[in-house]
Amino acid sequence: MLIILHSGSTQEDVATVIAELAGVSITGYPARNQGRQVIALSQHLNLELRTWLQQACPQVERILDIRAPYKLASTEYRPEPSTVIVGQGASQVRVGPGGFVVMAGPCTIESEEQLFKTAALVKQAGANVLRGGAFKPRTSPYSFQGMGVEGLKLLQRAGQQYNLPTVTEVMESAYVEAVAEYADILQIGARNMQNFPLLREAGLAGKPILLKRGPSATLEEWLMAAEYILATGNEQVILCERGIKSFDPATRNCLDLGGVVAVQEKTHLPVIVDPSHATGKRSLVTPLGLAAAAIGASGIIVECHPHPEQALCDGAQSILPAQLVALVKGVHNVAAVVRDIYEPVESDVAA
Ligand code: PEP
Ligand code: MN
Repeated sequence: MLIILHSGSTQEDVATVIAELAGVSITGYPARNQGRQVIALSQHLNLELRTWLQQACPQVERILDIRAPYKLASTEYRPEPSTVIVGQGASQVRVGPGGFVVMAGPCTIESEEQLFKTAALVKQAGANVLRGGAFKPRTSPYSFQGMGVEGLKLLQRAGQQYNLPTVTEVMESAYVEAVAEYADILQIGARNMQNFPLLREAGLAGKPILLKRGPSATLEEWLMAAEYILATGNEQVILCERGIKSFDPATRNCLDLGGVVAVQEKTHLPVIVDPSHATGKRSLVTPLGLAAAAIGASGIIVECHPHPEQALCDGAQSILPAQLVALVKGVHNVAAVVRDIYEPVESDVAA
């Protein structure tokens, strides 16, 4: 259930309603949405309790019977797909229905020369957002860990120079403020999907969040992670499928495209696909990027590098500049074709 308080309600009003609920042994959890104070309950309130609560608490505007455990993220709460707006001014990009975004860039920021060269290619190819890791979650402590804040500064400058909003990973709460200062989208990496303090902290930064699916996370766990961010009052959450663990190492992970379609039925949040980390192999990135467009995803995030053989991280899955050009064109063509199929005009549905 979700209890929506009247606009203008204060923290004190929230505390009062939570105390009333506690009086009948019901635990309410404070959240925020669309500037409103909201109280979430994991248990169901019957009609008698709902009537009592509305009489006992004049602060309550509405009580919504939302059964999904992820409440603010659910299509029960908001049936229409949401749009997340990233960046500012002329370079603003809308992620959501009716469009298809391409986020592209190196796995990791290696140097000024490498990043600016790649940013120029990303812009020329017609991609919309520049990616680049400054804090890298590496399997080995002996692998390149990223340039840190120096990398963030380069990313910001490259984004400004090429008029591209930027996305980069934040790995720990202590760096949320710095990443939010320099980047337009905060990426929560797959390994951190259930790092709940980080989710809260990132949500409170107030910038759009790209939430990657954990390598072994169910759709419900993924949406519950999104709920942590939404509960902070930050509605700008983009989900990203990046492959889940399977038994076969032939592809680095297993891209769960069925999961993307299924999760889109459960949530209004836009969902994009990362065919790079999903496959680990350059030759598989274009086909699966096109497949993401075909299933009605809201975009893709891909790794590219002017000289992948020299990349400090994930060179084998980084596509070449010419491949990025072809992929951007291809996904827009595919997205345009399927849009007519997934969004039939109302008269067609009635027929
Ligand atoms: C990345 O995008 O650079 C990355 C490390 O992704 P993931 O968290 O999906 O492995
Ligand atoms: Mn990578």
